[in-house]
Amino acid sequence: MSTPDSPSLSADDIAAIIGNLDEVADRARAAAESSGRSGDDVRVLLATKTQPAEKIRVALEHGFTLIGENKVQEITGKAEALADLNPETHLIGPLQKNKVNHTLRHAHCIQSVDNLPLAEKINNRLDVLDETIDYFIQVNTSREDSKFGVAPEDAEELVTATRELGRMRLRGLMTIGLPGSSPEEIRPSYSDLRELSEKLRGAGVMPAEATELSMGMSNDFELAIAEGATIVRVGSSIFGARDYT
Ligand SMILES: *Cc1c(COP(=O)(O)O)cnc(C)c1O
Repeated sequence: MSTPDSPSLSADDIAAIIGNLDEVADRARAAAESSGRSGDDVRVLLATKTQPAEKIRVALEHGFTLIGENKVQEITGKAEALADLNPETHLIGPLQKNKVNHTLRHAHCIQSVDNLPLAEKINNRLDVLDETIDYFIQVNTSREDSKFGVAPEDAEELVTATRELGRMRLRGLMTIGLPGSSPEEIRPSYSDLRELSEKLRGAGVMPAEATELSMGMSNDFELAIAEGATIVRVGSSIFGARDYT
């Protein structure tokens, strides 16, 4: 399976990625089924930051459809190379207001909405474009000082305010666990997100159909699925360690 734009991937590299994809998919399905859900209820999002388009292409050609990038520049940089495969592209990293225009060009969903001025900027731009977009509210359930994500106690107010924005469709909640935490330490941040979602939907603050929970990464995605994740974001266990050089 060589493609014109994957000159540097060997057959072994490709086989390794495919083996990892199959393994992650199997483990995600097993985790869903062992908590009484269908495997189809959980989607594996490929967390593709720093990964070249040729590796992402392998995964898309293998049947995966959902990718997540952290930086707008990376979305833009790879979009053209992957356009023929038409991936569903989510932004999963922080978004600055001055990058909104570029983001809307290629992203189908923004998972990192955590403040109202950002949401208003997105909505205003969508008005100009006469388009709509899906979004998640990112919540900081890690109980640590983190720059990203709205505090759980402020989520209701933010959800209520962003729902007024007519061009944005709320899909659910997203959280990032504490980097480097053990599964036992991370678990409450996932159960808290599920409980918050249930509470906000039960009270009519979130629409009933905004059931998505984006949580869990390579080290803990099975745990996240046990806590109700509908999207797990997996990078290094599919593509290998990231090269930041
Ligand atoms: C990098 C990243 C992931 C994936 O992390 P891995 O440990 O490589 O699976 C998931 N979510 C976000 C927001 C990320 O930045």
